[in-house]
Amino acid sequence: MLFKDDYKHKGLRKSLINTLKAKGITNEIVLYAMESVPRHYFFDDALLHHAYEDKAFPIGNGQTISQPYTVARQSELLDIKEGMKVLEIGTGSGYQAAILSQMKVRLFTIETVEPLYKKAKADLHRLGYNVRCYLGDGSLGLKRYAPFDRILLTAAAPKIPDMLFEQLKDGGLLVAPVGDKKTQTMVRVKKHGHERITEKHGLFAFVPLTGKEGWKN
Ligand code: SAH
Repeated sequence: MLFKDDYKHKGLRKSLINTLKAKGITNEIVLYAMESVPRHYFFDDALLHHAYEDKAFPIGNGQTISQPYTVARQSELLDIKEGMKVLEIGTGSGYQAAILSQMKVRLFTIETVEPLYKKAKADLHRLGYNVRCYLGDGSLGLKRYAPFDRILLTAAAPKIPDMLFEQLKDGGLLVAPVGDKKTQTMVRVKKHGHERITEKHGLFAFVPLTGKEGWKN
């Protein structure tokens, strides 16, 4: 598909930013990234006109592109600083990866569904985002590139996988929706030596994490 990002798309993004601000997003770097990344590039042609609504949408293979508010909130909770090494689990459409990459981090992202991995990798590279994409079970992390400053789960986990916590730097943060398959609490965990400092940040609904540390069926 040929990409076009014209004044109409930019205008829709501006009003999306106002919606995000009204919902409580304040981090300027996050808002700037959300205003810069053309979300419609990550949409199927048939759904293009929905690209700037604050809603999640199907991306095929039973998966979804997260709601903009959710992407913004997770990005804000990560408390990103330029140059950080970040791992995302659940590449999906690649949209969240593009946002983090726009925030100037060194991003590693892992997806378990092969067609989604291939499409997101191709889209991200074609759009010029410098993201390292991997195919595999992200519930086990990405040991050969650990440790990470930040780890983000974009699929619902029954609990924080131990392997992921191990792959976090001391002082690092992990953000993940934890709960049952329907509703999860957004959890932010700080690694302090072997201790975990846990905060809760509201209720969300994600697709389930699969794999060894995810849901079995
Ligand atoms: N971050 C995505 C949201 C994707 S939805 C975006 O911005 O579009 C969650 C994704 O997690 C799905 O694509 C799903 O296939 C993937 N996923 C689920 N379990 C996984 C696992 N164990 N390892 C890697 N990816 C996983």
